[in-house]
Amino acid sequence: AQLDTLDLIVLAILLAGTVAYFTKGTYWGIPKDPYAGSYSLANGAKAGKTRNILEKMDESEKNCIVFYGSQTGTAEDYASRLSKEGSQRFGLKTMVADLEDYDYENLDTFPEDKLAIFVLATYGEGEPTDNAVDFYEFVTGQDVSFSNGGAADEKPLESLKFVAFGLGNNTYEHYNSMVRRVNDALVKLGASRIGKAGEGDDGAGTMEEDFLAWKEPMWAELSEKLGLEEREAVYEPVLSITEREDLDADADEVYLGEPSKHHLEGSQKGPYDSHNPYIAPIVESREVFTVKDRNCLHMEIDVKGSNLTYTTGDHIAVWPTNAGKEVDRFINILGLAEKRHKVISVKGLDSTAKVPFPTPTTYDAAIRYHMEICGAVSRQFVSSLAPFAPNENSKAEMTKLGNDKDYFSDKVSSQYLNIAQVLERVDSSQWTNIPFSILIEGIHKIQPRYYSISSSSLVQKDKISITAVVEEIRIPGSDNIVKGVTTNYLLALKQKQHGDPHPDPHGLTYSITGPRNKYDGIHVPVHVRHSNFKLPSDPSKPIIMVGPGSGVAPFRGFIQERAAQAQAGENVGQTILFYGCRRASEDYLYKEEWEHYKQILGDKFTLITAFSRDGPKKVYVQQRLQENAALVNQLLEKEKSNFYVCGDAANMARAVNDVLGKIISEHRGVSPEKGEEIVKAMRASNQYQEDVW
Ligand code: FAD
Repeated sequence: AQLDTLDLIVLAILLAGTVAYFTKGTYWGIPKDPYAGSYSLANGAKAGKTRNILEKMDESEKNCIVFYGSQTGTAEDYASRLSKEGSQRFGLKTMVADLEDYDYENLDTFPEDKLAIFVLATYGEGEPTDNAVDFYEFVTGQDVSFSNGGAADEKPLESLKFVAFGLGNNTYEHYNSMVRRVNDALVKLGASRIGKAGEGDDGAGTMEEDFLAWKEPMWAELSEKLGLEEREAVYEPVLSITEREDLDADADEVYLGEPSKHHLEGSQKGPYDSHNPYIAPIVESREVFTVKDRNCLHMEIDVKGSNLTYTTGDHIAVWPTNAGKEVDRFINILGLAEKRHKVISVKGLDSTAKVPFPTPTTYDAAIRYHMEICGAVSRQFVSSLAPFAPNENSKAEMTKLGNDKDYFSDKVSSQYLNIAQVLERVDSSQWTNIPFSILIEGIHKIQPRYYSISSSSLVQKDKISITAVVEEIRIPGSDNIVKGVTTNYLLALKQKQHGDPHPDPHGLTYSITGPRNKYDGIHVPVHVRHSNFKLPSDPSKPIIMVGPGSGVAPFRGFIQERAAQAQAGENVGQTILFYGCRRASEDYLYKEEWEHYKQILGDKFTLITAFSRDGPKKVYVQQRLQENAALVNQLLEKEKSNFYVCGDAANMARAVNDVLGKIISEHRGVSPEKGEEIVKAMRASNQYQEDVW
């Protein structure tokens, strides 16, 4: 009987939704500026927005809310895809919501006929993403209490139905812990989950396929439980694009890539954070590899006067600009060349839709500065573009790519194609039928990339160093060369700074001087993210650091700091660095600097190197750890030394973890299982810290 009532309620809501649809949103209130998107609200008038989820759902007539906890944009993208699918295939009235934008005290009054979907990424050491911290602490808290009086020991969330998907990486110890813990907490509070709690694995490289495989049975179960009827999905835009005949690209109010209103008005203003970057001068840049065909950049970024602060071990985020060649490719294949500098306004078609960048802007600026046009392409997105193909053949090919996992892998994923390359290869004529809104909705917002700060805040509090290896992947058997978006942009900045006449051999160029030349004089937009990767507060405590390749970045900062402390007369403990690279003569980072620090720190500093291609046998840092097992164990056990690992998450960090367990087992005479347990305990107590990617 309960289901019958539910059916009726769902039907009633669908009916209400249909009425709302046909009244063209008169229910939703008309914004004063007909072109204003919700972006400007998000960046200014946030105070006026409700934090009450139920109120928001009621006023926008939604019956399904898709929350995301996202750090790099993937969870946000999946949330928006689920929202679209729920609406287009199943007639749900969906909205997407940033967990950070709402309060949760009234989840106990969440109506039975509505649905909450949680898409939750796990970050770092099993932590919630920045935007999910409050939500996570609330639902998993011991003394959670709800506005309706419900408490943790009762079942306050009995009326809450939810669906859950997690994004994780199995190379990390706390694989998908965020979705697992939130699921357990919600169930414990009485909520009922529909479908399995899905888990996607970035470590195995199967995130997208895991997601696709999880969602079909979930939709089936959901349809059955909620009595939803599947229909043929037809694209329904969430955003509207208006070409502004009344505005020229050089009008003052047009965003040409400026990240926020302050920037547009010419007065960048703090606080600088993940919504508002600081346009920082790069005061120094140099190449630190000695080999010709690979690059690693050392840069000094000046943050004086910005109020940006960091402590040693923090991360700096760099906001990239797409390469001109890729912007052109995208614009050309979509047939936008003639109107690339035309002004457009983008706005949400209802009040829950978020416009991902400030508008009015131009096609060119949106693509160049805000859309991750070079990123990996999802099968689902290719499917969604099929109806807009220029002819029946290309439509059939897009449909095949969308439906056939292996074919897609062969033609697209394994070739690392970006979306414009996919379209070019399917049909090289122009794809003028694709609505621009589907591209904005379906392509990630460009993400700032993080770099482990490679300087000490004690030594240079106003200057942030970064050490970045320039990404360039050659795909075997393919003519495609994947060039990392951010690192090649940084490389171009470095070349400009040095008046380097050698253009990129693959024709990459960048709008180095930024929107309205505001980045001229070699500037880059940045913000700082604080981390828990920290030196012990007592410098006399010994430390062991394992950081091959660019993983050495934060340790340059650590050692710089310890050298300064030693020079200031402080007692500095044993400082041991395990560093590895291919060849001493090619990619040995900071060789002279280590010698300099050695002179200052004397026998307090030990550098142990591993070169993987210098001898007949490959040697990696984990082997060096094993060779120095007695010392490592003694420092960890007797002197409670901290142990740090930075760099490659997929292979190195895991291998180091395992070797350490073995060392402990062998040198303390305990079983291998006990060795692993000790390593786990070291992680839990922060004696073992990781900064891996
Ligand atoms: P991207 O364009 O982001 O490409 C990166 C990778 O994505 C490619 O190599 C490829 O594997 C994949 N990819 C790109 N396009 C496609 C496609 N179309 N299809 C399939 N796959 C694709 N790096 C450092 O060098 N130094 C550091 O100190 C450092 N610290 C970090 C700290 C943290 C906390 C994190 C999270 C990362 C850190 N990184 C560091 C890595 C850095 O953030 C960037 O990921 C890296 O520099 C590459 O960025 P990019 O924009 O140049 O490459």
